[in-house]
Amino acid sequence: MPSQADFHLHSTISDGRLTPSQLVDLAHRNGVRIMALTDHDIVDGLPEAFEATSRHDDFTLVPGIEMSTDVPGNEVHILGHFIDWQDSAFRARLVILQESRLGRAHKMVEKLVSLNKPVTWERVEHFAGEGAVGRPHIALALVEAGHVSSVNEAFNLYLGRTAPAYVDRERLTPGEVVATITSVGGLATLAHPRELKAAGGLDGLLSELKAAGLTGMEVYYQDYHADEIESLRVLALKFDLIPLGGSDYHGLGNPQQREPGKIPLPMAPVERLLDLANRRGVLDRARGPLASIVR
Ligand code: AMP
Ligand code: ZN
Ligand code: FE
Ligand code: FE
Repeated sequence: MPSQADFHLHSTISDGRLTPSQLVDLAHRNGVRIMALTDHDIVDGLPEAFEATSRHDDFTLVPGIEMSTDVPGNEVHILGHFIDWQDSAFRARLVILQESRLGRAHKMVEKLVSLNKPVTWERVEHFAGEGAVGRPHIALALVEAGHVSSVNEAFNLYLGRTAPAYVDRERLTPGEVVATITSVGGLATLAHPRELKAAGGLDGLLSELKAAGLTGMEVYYQDYHADEIESLRVLALKFDLIPLGGSDYHGLGNPQQREPGKIPLPMAPVERLLDLANRRGVLDRARGPLASIVR
């Protein structure tokens, strides 16, 4: 069942294949009426997305971001919604994260060369375009070079967390990311927690992050099955977190990814998020009619 809301989407400004305005138009066409643009460690797509929003008088855009961190043995991604994306200290921090992304991508390219699966930096840059460079761009270069047949295979054989060309990030801790998002008035939501749950560390992480200001957890995500959704929903309830959801659409053609809005996110948690944003005084950072409904 599609949703009228989607709080997790990527554009060409990071590793998605659609521009921010194409993404807004596709989401709108799919019936989405409130969405967040959440590019990786970057907010530069927001002006274009806001501009595109003005073409649809029944559409609300929430400024967002997805920030990545590592914990031993796992990656933790945290979404920030209703962030003050123009804050200068926040943006300075994002510039540092972009630089670390570049260094890390260079190291992964070097590892691929030594694994005899060479890709050139020029092709990685080509796929990244002007946006934040990420592993999907290296994956596309691997596909193009004929070393693998798909982006998924590139992750399974080379770029995934336990694969030989993977390089750890030098990043903030998950608690620091939640604090960073919270410091610009954003509402922080733990993204795609299934693998963290499988690894057994989710309860501990949630109590730590709840103390740091976490307000939500992604529950209605991509290909999560009904039973996974239900057990995550119960966990969100236990920690008093809003059970949010998103497609994490990138347009890369991975079979697990859903189109914008093609997730079973009900409207009740969406209303809770808007209500919380309203109480925190950050609701008007979104643009569109929903922002005025709750006022
Ligand atoms: P990065 O930000 O460079 O660490 O890359 C993270 C991105 O890689 C995620 O947002 C996904 O789009 C993609 N990704 C991560 N794991 C996989 C996987 N196993 N298969 C396909 N794409 C993946
Ligand atoms: Zn991505
Ligand atoms: Fe993610
Ligand atoms: Fe994502």
